Amino acid sequence: MTKHIAVYPGSFDPITYGHLDIIERGLEVFDEIIIAVARNSEKRSLFSTAERISLIEEALDGDPRVSVDTFDGLLVDYVVSRGARVILRGLRAVSDFEYEFQIAQMNHNLKSEVETLFMMTSVPYGYLSSSIVKEVAGLQGPVETLVPPVVRKALAGKFGKPEND
Ligand code: ADP
Repeated sequence: MTKHIAVYPGSFDPITYGHLDIIERGLEVFDEIIIAVARNSEKRSLFSTAERISLIEEALDGDPRVSVDTFDGLLVDYVVSRGARVILRGLRAVSDFEYEFQIAQMNHNLKSEVETLFMMTSVPYGYLSSSIVKEVAGLQGPVETLVPPVVRKALAGKFGKPEND
């Protein structure tokens, strides 16, 4: 039987409960998910690639169906090189749509055998993004409902918040 593998690409700077929700629900549809951390992201990241990977690994708690990797260059080439045919992306508010639509069309033009599938966010995470998490954490606000404990600790380390647990 062919394994259905999806690549879930992104910056994951850092991983949030919104990402984890997409991964968990993606596993209902795919046999395997490869989380692909983008190295060539234009965005300036708070966490290094190695830090982002180790936070994802710790947050996943060793599920054998999920692996974490990084990629450079064209995502569609990476997807094919991993024996996958699907790019999994999450969709939040309307604001995500235009950007995602553009990228999905470009990827389709580049390699038509690779499909992009979108999963709608779950209601509690509709407005949750890594950027908003960094903003709240940077202002010493509470992030425990937004990110797993390991990420909360890492954010506290970056922003110098005293740990009280
Ligand atoms: P990128 O820089 O590629 O957008 P992100 O790490 O911000 O990387 O997001 C990776 C993927 O996860 C994107 O498809 C994004 O829409 C999705 N995602 C992020 N947060 C959520 C959320 N709260 N609910 C659903 N999908 C999300």
